[in-house]
Amino acid sequence: MPLEMALIDGKRVPTKQWIDVLDPATAAVFARVARCGPAHVEEAVSAARSAYEKSWRFTTPAERARICRDIARGIGAERARLAALETRDTGKPISQSFTDVDVAARYFEFYAGAVEALSGESFLPERDLLAFTIREPYGVCGHIIPWNYPLQVAARTLAPALAAGNCCVLKPAEDAPLTSLALGEIALAAGLPAGVLNVVPGYGEEAGAALTSHPDVDHLAFTGSREVGEAVMTAAARNIVTVTLELGGKSPHIVLPDFDAERAVPLIVGSITEHAGQNCSAGSRLLVHESVHQELVTELASHFARLRIGPGSTDPDLGPLISAKQRARVLEYLDQARRECVLVTGGGLPKGDEFETGFYVEPTILDQVTPAHRVFNEEIFGPVLCVSTFASLEDAVELAEHTSYGLSAGVWTSDVSTAHWLARRLRVGQVFINNYSAAGGVELPFGGYRSSGIGVEKGFEALREYTRCKTVALHTGTRHLSRGK
Ligand code: NAD
Repeated sequence: MPLEMALIDGKRVPTKQWIDVLDPATAAVFARVARCGPAHVEEAVSAARSAYEKSWRFTTPAERARICRDIARGIGAERARLAALETRDTGKPISQSFTDVDVAARYFEFYAGAVEALSGESFLPERDLLAFTIREPYGVCGHIIPWNYPLQVAARTLAPALAAGNCCVLKPAEDAPLTSLALGEIALAAGLPAGVLNVVPGYGEEAGAALTSHPDVDHLAFTGSREVGEAVMTAAARNIVTVTLELGGKSPHIVLPDFDAERAVPLIVGSITEHAGQNCSAGSRLLVHESVHQELVTELASHFARLRIGPGSTDPDLGPLISAKQRARVLEYLDQARRECVLVTGGGLPKGDEFETGFYVEPTILDQVTPAHRVFNEEIFGPVLCVSTFASLEDAVELAEHTSYGLSAGVWTSDVSTAHWLARRLRVGQVFINNYSAAGGVELPFGGYRSSGIGVEKGFEALREYTRCKTVALHTGTRHLSRGK
């Protein structure tokens, strides 16, 4: 059984205790990963601090860009191995894992270019005063990520942080830690100096809490649930450090009578079935105008009936959920919803011997869901689409905003003015008009409003997120040179 050690100061470090890593398609243990505790986090933060003070903070953007490009090339060279590992660790269909690997490489390429364009501003507030701003790295950043898109999210948060000149300690999720460790190795091989990136797998309450409360961490970047986000922010408040929080969602599609069904239906289906709905931006609520409700639900149900479920390695439409715990959570939501709403399709475990051992759940549509129902408001994190109807645009906005989340929204209409009106009104970080694609587009800033988070990842914005602004004011003493003028 492979033992996956922590990566601290450029070396593989064993731990006394290990965590079993399960294949969600079979529930079989296929590796064991280090269970880091506070002492390992201490070592990792101190290695990051020392790498920052001794070398990384003095590197030029061009030097860091070169290493980021080499990391991107290293990811590309290991494309097949990384995709297979991601599918084994998370259960997702192999073609989705290939996309994740490609997007991870794109992050390093993008920030290699972007950091060379990062600049401050200059001011001449008085005749003899030249002032300018410098974007400086924070120093040591702590990164905590979830299990659903481990490689992609690790790259999304590490690439801008490293390119901006920070040193990083990454705590991957206990349920899917392997590609984070592989990324650490690839970065070392690409020339990233020891200590600049450290990876400390472990449980959230142990390694995660030790990282968020560490007094020598200067910035915390957290991606995960709203509940843990609150704990991370509380820890950050105690040390007065900044946070980036990328949290959950309950994102709606708003479908108006003049929508293009041919275009919308496959994208709505994809948005709730990609990685079996375990996606922060999953389009988990369908708010549809009452005049087109019946025709759309019928069409969606016929698409759902054709979806292929199976092990990620066979590249189905849906793989298993990540764990028995996550499947039990989804089934509990479905049990309650079956009594309160109308079950259109799915609602339980897929039938067949091949689904006996893995953590599978049927793709499900629930109709006549209202704000009074739990499934309307809470993030289920499974392949469950909740359908509600509206009669006016105002009703649609009210329904959309009934949950405390504000991550993404899809708007489906042929009328540009209506689309624009909705885009301006909705309190969400991303509005997709006649499309729904949060996963690609490394250059697009991505963040949540309200309970979906604080700050922005992706795009040029994220480089600013991983730097702080210093103002330098210089007295130029030129007054004597222009005497009399
Ligand atoms: P989670 O919040 O349970 O765990 C996320 C990470 O936090 C894990 O690494 C975990 O070990 C760690 N953690 C847990 N308790 C901790 C603590 N007390 N202190 C420090 N760290 C701790 O989330 P999850 O179940 O892994 O992932 C699913 C959630 O992530 C969903 O809510 C989903 O919407 C969200 N998510 C958001 C985005 C985004 O970009 N907005 C992207 C992916 C996932």
